Amino acid sequence: MRYKLFNTIAFKLTLWFTGIFTICSGFAFVLFYFLVIQTIQVQVDQELMDNASKFSAVIHRNGLNGARELAVVEAQVAGEKVMFFRLLYPTGEVFASSHMSYWKQVHVSKNVLQELLLEKKPIFETILIPSTRQKARIFYSYVAANAILQTGIAMDFPAKFLSAFKKVFIAAMGLIIVFSAVSGWLLVRKALSGVKTITLTAQNITGKSLEARVTETGNKDELDHLAITFNAMLDRIEELVKSIREMSDNIAHDLKSPIARIRGFAELSLIHEGNIADFSAMASNTIEESDRLLDMINTMLVISKAEAGEEEFEFKQTDLSMMIKSACELFEPLAEDKHIFFTQTIEDGISVVADIKMLQRAFSNLLDNAIKYTSKNGRISVAVFKEDHGITIKIEDTGIGIAAEDLEKIFQRFYRAESSRTSAGTGLGLSLARTIVRQHKGDIQVNSSPGKGSVFVIALPYCNPAVI
Ligand code: ADP
Repeated sequence: MRYKLFNTIAFKLTLWFTGIFTICSGFAFVLFYFLVIQTIQVQVDQELMDNASKFSAVIHRNGLNGARELAVVEAQVAGEKVMFFRLLYPTGEVFASSHMSYWKQVHVSKNVLQELLLEKKPIFETILIPSTRQKARIFYSYVAANAILQTGIAMDFPAKFLSAFKKVFIAAMGLIIVFSAVSGWLLVRKALSGVKTITLTAQNITGKSLEARVTETGNKDELDHLAITFNAMLDRIEELVKSIREMSDNIAHDLKSPIARIRGFAELSLIHEGNIADFSAMASNTIEESDRLLDMINTMLVISKAEAGEEEFEFKQTDLSMMIKSACELFEPLAEDKHIFFTQTIEDGISVVADIKMLQRAFSNLLDNAIKYTSKNGRISVAVFKEDHGITIKIEDTGIGIAAEDLEKIFQRFYRAESSRTSAGTGLGLSLARTIVRQHKGDIQVNSSPGKGSVFVIALPYCNPAVI
């Protein structure tokens, strides 16, 4: 399936990655920029204050004349375009200054002087010199009782530095955006490459067979986990598809024989020219086959519905001991007919909350099998008793037994072991029995040795709220 680049996770993640990277570095640059401005201003202010201290000391030593000379010398040393000094009386009248041709647009601010007179604290201000469009930092401070120093410093060097910084910042941001987009794209593509493999495998599966599997990297990361889960899911699906296929093959096979027989009887009655007794025999055979067919279909329906949780079981408090006893009574004559020695040890008064009809069906299937697969002079014993963990129903026979490889398969629908193909049967009895017992939160286990016999054990747990 083709999908648009804008819709891909790789594109969206790259966009996020680039956005976050750009915002973070932009924030870092802005922070750095303001830190630089702050530091420069602190340095400039310190220099201005140091100069004022120098003036105070000179006035203290040499009087105002000393300060006059100092103003000229200091300005020359720093550069007359870089710095100026003006000495004023508190009235604002200038009595000395450095060479002011570059600074003539910087006047004495009456407001600042008033503030200074009132507060007696030094004052800083930043002004813009109109002719040069340069900023200057101006400082007013008392340097003697009747002398105020107004000094200023040009801010063109910091301004140049900051403008160079801005250019570097813009270029660096451009590079960062390109770098983060490219590296983000490559990283995300690499990280998601496993997802692509899984998608390709899934596409192969829908198109071809169920055998393809994703290669597990063994890295134990999220994608490896996904691959393992995906493969496990495929194993399960393959298993289910296989069992559905087998089951439908079995259904087709098992339904074919009775239908063929029914057709045979119908055909015979069409061409047969016999008496009424022959026709009624053929009709009863047809009914018998149809009943078998209906029974098979009904059993299949019960199993499917119970497995899907759709079959309504009617749980009621009933006497399990009684139910088993009456089932044994029904089957005992059959065992006798086959000269099978039948014994039963049934604990009295075992009460259960169960769908007794269903449970009887399950038990009867096991007992019927025991009789069916045990030959003349064999033995069958039924035992029912309470144990610590629950109720146990045991059906033991000395029949043909079951091969080890068949032990689990015999519970599958329609499965019949090779050794039992000569006896009549549908292969649905055990499957139904296990489904019923599982609906009662119990299970059926089997132990068997071929040629020696089998033991089927139904366990109904006490912990099942439906069983007392
Ligand atoms: P059916 O008996 O109709 O074939 P079941 O589902 O009842 O179907 O049993 C499935 C298979 O399990 C039987 O075909 C038989 O091979 C095996 N089996 C069941 N019970 C016994 C038993 N008591 N002794 C030997 N084999 C058994």
